Amino acid sequence: VERSLAIIKPDAIHKSEEIEDIILRSGFAVLQKRRVHLTPEQASDFYAEHYGKLFFPSLVAYMSSGPIIALVIAKDSAIAHWRELIGPTNTIKARQTHPDCLRAVYGTDDQRNALHGSDSFSSAEREIRFFFPDSVVE
Ligand code: ATP
Repeated sequence: VERSLAIIKPDAIHKSEEIEDIILRSGFAVLQKRRVHLTPEQASDFYAEHYGKLFFPSLVAYMSSGPIIALVIAKDSAIAHWRELIGPTNTIKARQTHPDCLRAVYGTDDQRNALHGSDSFSSAEREIRFFFPDSVVE
């Protein structure tokens, strides 16, 4: 099995129970879960790869605007499967091309897209450590 980090972002937090149900019904195990309200500094650290981009300040404001839920999810090919389930980054485009994906259903706009998924094995490991620094590495 492979692990990924999923985040239910501030715009979808009111639907978190519904989304967690879908995660489980899609065959993922939830290994860890944490509800957290990031400071702007923590949100900047998490998205450091986007530092300098035009949308960076509003991304940081969005991700620190309210509580989020970080989940370590696991199954075979969890990283690819979760990204497939959440769909394209831009909610507006996702609604046109992948109307059943989770971002199309729960997202708000091109930035507030309800969910996050790690995009590689190395980013999954880094992101899991970010939210769960005490987690045991197997
Ligand atoms: P995530 O990392 O959250 O899973 P992603 O990998 O699909 O999303 P990234 O390119 O890593 O997308 O962008 C990170 C986040 O920054 C996006 O989820 C979105 O909230 C925001 N974002 C990305 N591109 C734009 C943009 N062009 N305009 C506004 N916000 C954006």
